[in-house]
Amino acid sequence: MRILKAVFCYLALACAMAAQTANPTSWGSDPQVEAKIDFLLKQMTLDEKVGQLVTYSQGIPTGPGTSRSDYKELVSKGRLGSIFNLTGASETNAMQKIAVEKSRLHIPLLFGLDVIHGFRTEFPVPLALSATWDPALVEQTARVAAKESRHAGVRWTYSPMVDIARDARWGRIVESAGEDPYLGSAMAAAYVRGYQGAKLSDPESIAACTKHFVGYGAAEGGRDYNTAEISVRTLRQVYLPPFQATLNAGVASFMSAFETLNTVPASANAFTLTQVLRKEWDFKGFVVSDWNSIGELIPQGIAANHSVAAAKAFTAGVDMDMESDAYGPHLAELVKSGVVKESAVDESVRRVLRVKFALGLFENPYTNDKVSSEIAAQDADLARKAAEESFVLLKNEGGLLPLKAGRKTIALIGPLADDAQQMLGAWSAKGEAKDVVTLRSALTKQAKATQGRVIYAKGTDILTTSDKGFADAVVAAKTSDIVVLALGEDAGLMTGEAGSRAHLDLPGNQQQLLEAVAATGKPVVLVVFSGRPLVLNWAAQHVPAILEAWFPGVQAGSALANVLLGVSSPSGRLTVSFPRAVGQQPLYYNRFNTGRPAGSTDLSRPPSTSGEKFLSRYVDVPNSPLYPFGYGLTYSTVSYSPTAVSVSSVSAKDLNAGTAKLTVTAEVKNTGGRVADEVVQLYIQQRDTSVVRPVRELKGFRRVSLPPGSSQKIEFTIGRDELKFWNIDLKDVVEPAQLTVWIAPDSASGSPAQVAIGQ
Ligand code: BGC
Repeated sequence: MRILKAVFCYLALACAMAAQTANPTSWGSDPQVEAKIDFLLKQMTLDEKVGQLVTYSQGIPTGPGTSRSDYKELVSKGRLGSIFNLTGASETNAMQKIAVEKSRLHIPLLFGLDVIHGFRTEFPVPLALSATWDPALVEQTARVAAKESRHAGVRWTYSPMVDIARDARWGRIVESAGEDPYLGSAMAAAYVRGYQGAKLSDPESIAACTKHFVGYGAAEGGRDYNTAEISVRTLRQVYLPPFQATLNAGVASFMSAFETLNTVPASANAFTLTQVLRKEWDFKGFVVSDWNSIGELIPQGIAANHSVAAAKAFTAGVDMDMESDAYGPHLAELVKSGVVKESAVDESVRRVLRVKFALGLFENPYTNDKVSSEIAAQDADLARKAAEESFVLLKNEGGLLPLKAGRKTIALIGPLADDAQQMLGAWSAKGEAKDVVTLRSALTKQAKATQGRVIYAKGTDILTTSDKGFADAVVAAKTSDIVVLALGEDAGLMTGEAGSRAHLDLPGNQQQLLEAVAATGKPVVLVVFSGRPLVLNWAAQHVPAILEAWFPGVQAGSALANVLLGVSSPSGRLTVSFPRAVGQQPLYYNRFNTGRPAGSTDLSRPPSTSGEKFLSRYVDVPNSPLYPFGYGLTYSTVSYSPTAVSVSSVSAKDLNAGTAKLTVTAEVKNTGGRVADEVVQLYIQQRDTSVVRPVRELKGFRRVSLPPGSSQKIEFTIGRDELKFWNIDLKDVVEPAQLTVWIAPDSASGSPAQVAIGQ
């Protein structure tokens, strides 16, 4: 009888809640949903409320976990509302059944997972995806990831990671869209659109989670989890915009970060979590902590125990505790003792339930889909296309690439030429090495088709001091017409979480292998697999062709073979500056000028005058990057006309009112013999302002395909959104300024045009 009553009660609730799927961009505005949440809240005990504010992991720890294993019991008592790292239709359904049938109020569970650049179909790592400068493509990759996740019961991904990353030592730069807030915002919103689709309740949509709020990428020294000091203005101008872009795209949840931000840990930071996120931005979704980041308030030094940690995180604005076991055991008693208000707990529960309703979990708590045992052909095609668009051609002396048909024998050398697992990159969810096409297999196949031959020699391992394989590699090089060297980092060890590096060279003895092979005199194409910019000075001087391949995902080899052999052209552009030395870090193009700018100093001799010496520079390396933000070659050549602007002066008042805009144009011409996919970039600089503005800032970009000989007029509009900044009074406005604009192929070139912004 009780069971029948429970089932009836659940069905009644489910029916009552049918068709209440909220539009993701209007969280909290559906009175019907809110009424249903009220209905539930009225019936919930305090312990059941706290249960909705807790999530635990099913294994796979990325840090010290709770070591709890009583999930089934917790779920049946309504004391656990979400589980992550549990995947598979039958596994999630079994746990869901307990929530839906055994718990008193039948509130379904939310299953989460880090689906970062694909679920089973692994796409290029996020840093690579950003190098496509193609948000529409990124959206499609996220859509595929959502579909596959959903089929396996996962309804919530801890993505996108939108941390601005200006320091290549930080391992998690690989999960980012690089150093720029404008591009980062475009990519951030694209992921959310892809995951969440038009409606969260669609059968192929999942909830997104923007992370890590905020400033995590500014870790001092590039060391993961380390302290960040960011001025309020820089926080607002550089680090917050991509988060806000996801909010505007309707993201369901945010994750608070690990680091101590301006002396207050990000997971107990009321300024960012409450003042900015709730009060200024009016975010209606929920905030989950990072893994044990509430527990970490103890070693960070602001909490004596888990109870204090829970109180601090909760009152600062963290709704859900991930793996700290702070809310579960302590939040109810904090309410009873008056430290935390029950109305605040209700509000947090409301935010979580909103997402569950929007996902349609009450109507469809289970997953009925059959997971395909293979990657769908069209998804593999998308993975290949994304990889091809993400490769950045850094150098191509004498047009060595694409490899000419006359080249018959290719020596393929290096530890990353045939390592399937590495191609998946960090955070590869349910990616499987057996799905990966390696460079070796694809190149061998494609070369055979044109009567060519590939000789493979591993040469060395990614991380070893042994040079046992060098001799074979040198022989392979000598007996070939051309060498393709596949070198780079260990994706698991050196990239992603806790993958910070103090050195940015090719690891192990790969540099020595490169030099030994190059010494044969054979033309070398260096293909670099990395999750960050590496220091490639020697290669830049001695190797004719360099292709940055990142970690390209399941179609790594097919995409690379296509690009190397000219079936398609490389069209990626850097979203991170490539340094000349680790000591330049953090290195980013949108820096401020100093009072003593160095320009291009001559480092071949000591400075001879005080005017030469007392400059903001290094005595042993230029200030400039080896390859700048925005840079990347194609197999063709493209020329840019001078930048033109529609007016020479405009008023700040009109810009602020939204009644004035500028039009900026340039003619872009393919002057070479092949189709060029060009990423046309718009930059600005403002001077004579109340606060210092960057030497350049990206404010627009367009990816265009230009047939040989063709030209296109590219037009950008600049208005309030592009010109406003947080001024001396911390107001986000357009100020009178001297404005310079460039339409350029990268952040270090282009012809400037001037506009006076008057009162
Ligand atoms: C990471 C997050 C991740 C979480 C759950 C943490 O260690 O910082 O990015 O989403 O683990 O796996």
